[in-house]
Amino acid sequence: MSVVDRQEWDVVVVGAGGAGLRAAIEARERGARTAVICKSLFGKAHTVMAEGGIAAAMANVNEHDNWQVHFRDTLRGGKFLNQWRMAELHAQEAPDRVWELETWGALFDRTKDGKISQRNFGGHEYPRLAHVGDRTGLELIRTLQQKIVALQQEDMKETGDYESRLKVFQECTVTRILKDGERVSAVFAYDRESGRFFVLEAPAVVVATGGIGKSFKVTSNSWEYTGDGHALALLAGAPLLNMEFVQFHPTGMVWPPSVKGILVTESVRGDGGVLRNSEGKRFMFDYIPDVFKEKYAESEEEGDRWYEDPDHNRRPPELLPRDEVARAINSEVKAGRGSPHGGVFLDVSTRMPAEVIRRRLPSMYHQFKELADVDITAEAMEVGPTCHYVMGGIAVDSDTAAARGVPGLFAAGEVAGGMHGSNRLGGNSLSDLLVFGRRAGWHAAEYAMGVAERPEVAEAQVNTAAAEALRPFSAETEGEAGPPENPYTLHQELQQTMNDLVGIIRREGEMEQALQKLAELRVRARRAGVEGHRQFNPGWHLALDLRNMLLVSECVARAALERTESRGGHTREDHPTMDRAWRNANLLCALADPTGGLAATDPARGQIRLTRETTDPIRPDLLALFEKEELVKYLAEEELYE
Ligand code: FAD
Repeated sequence: MSVVDRQEWDVVVVGAGGAGLRAAIEARERGARTAVICKSLFGKAHTVMAEGGIAAAMANVNEHDNWQVHFRDTLRGGKFLNQWRMAELHAQEAPDRVWELETWGALFDRTKDGKISQRNFGGHEYPRLAHVGDRTGLELIRTLQQKIVALQQEDMKETGDYESRLKVFQECTVTRILKDGERVSAVFAYDRESGRFFVLEAPAVVVATGGIGKSFKVTSNSWEYTGDGHALALLAGAPLLNMEFVQFHPTGMVWPPSVKGILVTESVRGDGGVLRNSEGKRFMFDYIPDVFKEKYAESEEEGDRWYEDPDHNRRPPELLPRDEVARAINSEVKAGRGSPHGGVFLDVSTRMPAEVIRRRLPSMYHQFKELADVDITAEAMEVGPTCHYVMGGIAVDSDTAAARGVPGLFAAGEVAGGMHGSNRLGGNSLSDLLVFGRRAGWHAAEYAMGVAERPEVAEAQVNTAAAEALRPFSAETEGEAGPPENPYTLHQELQQTMNDLVGIIRREGEMEQALQKLAELRVRARRAGVEGHRQFNPGWHLALDLRNMLLVSECVARAALERTESRGGHTREDHPTMDRAWRNANLLCALADPTGGLAATDPARGQIRLTRETTDPIRPDLLALFEKEELVKYLAEEELYE
């Protein structure tokens, strides 16, 4: 085995999206020598795609807003399954994180009196999303990148080396987290261009790798979203929480086929866009669930008045949480009232002057013009649900972002579970990245600098990780039965399986079928072979992604089969209602083989073990923020009694 380069750091952050960069800044500012590693180019993380804004109760547009209202909205959106302490910290700290961004150079859109402007979004009682047109994520990443460069310039002055305390390894993929006994010791990675392996040793690792959307065929997610961080944590022995909750955003493009799934931001509805079926009806008024009845307008007139006078009218049902809107669109299409290409119509053209549309929604205007030849200032868009976000993720401590069960492992951003319960509200991800990215960086630095002895990295572990990564080059000759498999074909079959059998509406029989198909794909993935060498070899990268996609897909399917109710991003046709008995139930996925070695296990057998646990009771002062009549709709009998 060739010698693998090693470097020593205090904290390694895997992922350079909003969560990873915010964690890295915090760790470095607290004195930890910090490395950031990401598989795309620095600045190209998925976060740049975020459009609508960042949710923070700054009360700039409506003075009644405050963290308690934001907390309430977040819990309602998540159907009370949220890790409530995370939701509390998030609502309290988000405004400071937005302000901080401005002090680092971000420039948000303004209200007439010069405050940071805030827009309406589904499930948020007041206008709450600070934004930069519909390109908020780009500004967020640009600002964090700028802050990193500023810190590196400081280091240059002091040490003569820009990268002495904060270094970015871009276009490098982590394939394993290594451990010394129970605790984290390093990450094993390869450079995507050269194929060269290397190890970054550190007592603390922050996982901030984003989501899993590429396991579904129709998705708004970028190529990076193959569930790597979820799988890395599982393999390192950290459980994943509530993986059944996958958000299908109601409005993705449906036509032409090459762009199916690309997001149509919720700001379109927040700014006044309405949904209509093929009969021209604003159908969302027929889909307001009981739990939300008192909060949404009963007529189009009232809904329309709300945009001008939100204090005396209720919001239109187009702004219900995403899970509700996605299900409604699905039902309309199923009932034969869809648009020509299998979606429904989303219209702003009759609601706002063309010039306002172009100013407030510039990306949407160009997206439809260039990709679909549709002028949204003159005609309606066709839209339908698209896999968008995973609420499930690494189980973490709310205050410290420490992953459960593995000392030295931390997680933040989309890869972490708990914050959003069963359904995330729009805008609550960007704020989550900053609030918990900071907390993860802070506690990782504290942990790393407090360890009495640095963990050791055993050569044998490095060699095993290298052998695992090289396997696709010799899969064919290793004696596995059957013909070699093309990794690209396996990706496609996996995506189709998840889309068709564990998608927006789920049924017991189909999920069982999905688990069988996943077992078959795991067997075939053992034979996924690639030709050529390690220098930029996309087939090899796809083959390595498969392990992660198969693991997270099994977690989603197993947990979805187990949860016999419908809640948030998990809808069962055979259990169509929310069941209060499941309100305080978390489902945890762990590796069936706790040693984390997959090679020795039979791929035909399930790799995931599921356990159920009861959530911590919600703190009484937080429960007191809700009316009793509302709590009755969500909480189990014994919880109410307590
Ligand atoms: P990311 O930004 O995805 O970063 C992940 C990082 O991990 C990347 O650098 C990647 O290269 C790296 N990585 C992954 N795997 C590996 C590996 N194995 N090794 C090394 N590096 C790895 N949310 C909002 O709140 N408001 C919005 O307006 C909004 N709009 C959105 C619009 C679109 C089109 C989409 C798709 C999402 C939107 N979201 C929005 C959701 C939000 O953008 C994401 O949830 C969020 O950006 C995730 O950030 P993150 O830091 O967790 O991960």
